[in-house]
Amino acid sequence: MTARILVVDDVPANLKLLEARLTAEYFEVVTASSGPEALAICERAQCDVVLLDVMMPGMNGFEVCRRLKADPKTHHIPVVMITALDQPSDRVTGLEAGADDFLTKPVADVALLARIRSLARLKLLGDELRLRAQTTREIGMSDTLMEAVADTGEGGRVLLVDDRPSSAERICKALARTQTVDVEPEPQEALFRAAEGDYDVVVVALSLADFDALRLCAQLRSLERTRMTPIVLIADPEQNARVLRGLEVGVNDYLMRPIEPNELTARIRTQVRRRRYTARLRDNLQTSMELAITDGLTGLNNRRYMEMHLQTLLDQAESRGRPLSALVADIDLFKGVNDGFGHDAGDEVLREFSRRLKASVRGIDLVCRLGGEEFVVVMPETDAQVARVVAERIRSKTAAQPFAIAGGAQSIDVTVSVGVASFLGKSDDAAALLKRADVALYRAKADGRNRVVADAA
Ligand code: GH3
Ligand code: MG
Ligand code: MG
Repeated sequence: MTARILVVDDVPANLKLLEARLTAEYFEVVTASSGPEALAICERAQCDVVLLDVMMPGMNGFEVCRRLKADPKTHHIPVVMITALDQPSDRVTGLEAGADDFLTKPVADVALLARIRSLARLKLLGDELRLRAQTTREIGMSDTLMEAVADTGEGGRVLLVDDRPSSAERICKALARTQTVDVEPEPQEALFRAAEGDYDVVVVALSLADFDALRLCAQLRSLERTRMTPIVLIADPEQNARVLRGLEVGVNDYLMRPIEPNELTARIRTQVRRRRYTARLRDNLQTSMELAITDGLTGLNNRRYMEMHLQTLLDQAESRGRPLSALVADIDLFKGVNDGFGHDAGDEVLREFSRRLKASVRGIDLVCRLGGEEFVVVMPETDAQVARVVAERIRSKTAAQPFAIAGGAQSIDVTVSVGVASFLGKSDDAAALLKRADVALYRAKADGRNRVVADAA
């Protein structure tokens, strides 16, 4: 992974120092010597992580951070604040401005470089998700970004794994105003609860009495259900090396005791916000993937999905020695519906036909709109004889009752012709199967429509 880091500092010597340090770690580095210059670079999407000096003339670091986090275009870029002193009050101001992390001058800490790496990794993952979702679905994305900007990170669910009652109580008290906290002293029980409980953040005390807290973190990372759940460690100052190991294992953030309540609150809020943002991106991606395989008018699967999936079903049928059949159904003289009643009425007929089609087959059958007024049903575990019965059911369900159009004001008679073919085994393939069903359909049309014809093979 190579990430581009933007370093912002008004003192040229500081820029040089950090640039050298980061270049040595194989990061790509861009620099800016003022707030406005930094904002312009971020706006052009030219960096993955921002290292931001707090003390700058004109626009200070807090203000730059606030602006970055308030703009949907730059909100997702992680910001690390650089403070001269390790001031808790500065840290809280920074976190409230939306900062993701802190470095203290002089910058030398290996653990913090690991943290930049982890922020960069998150950013790149987010970019990937956003890109994929955006490619297929432009709308909805801007909502997701606006929601992310507006999210305060409050009202999340936190699981605290701590076996020291006094420590757990202090942490709960600090978080009570902004989050709902459950405490679990038992690490294995905690793993179970984290997997079942849909938590936004898991906070783990590093010094559990008789269990390796990092093992728990690793387990959380490897479980499918908790893989993406942020983990925050609570450590003692002498546990620096263990914290570093934790970051390597995939821990997202840590706090050192004694815990500053405001800093704890702010860091947990950051994690809750990040987790919700990723969840929204995932939903978005899921929706766009569903859209990509669904026909918009009828909600059936589309041709693309059918073509992808049919070969899998054929392979399965072949390896298990089971039958499989397919039918192609084409509405009769559909052009006449459009010409006589309008295109909207035609659409209504297509939707109602889809409903009847779905109602005529089993849940495991693959029902697709190939395009126009042409549909395909693929039926696993179905031989030629049964497929014929299903096709006849579709035909009669269509002809039996007129189709309502104009919102129910009118109705018209609709019929359908169906061609049926069955899988012949090894020598057969998807294209050939559909071709035979199509030839049968063509015969049904030629023989007078409103009928079922089965392939002779
Ligand atoms: P046949 O019985 O031989 O199948 O005659 P047909 O009129 O059904 O067949 P043809 O293929 O000539 O016409 C299909 C019509 O379907 C033409 C096209 O305008 C219409 N059509 C295709 N897609 C849609 C759609 O999404 N909505 C509507 N309303 N009409 C569509
Ligand atoms: Mg037709
Ligand atoms: Mg047609």
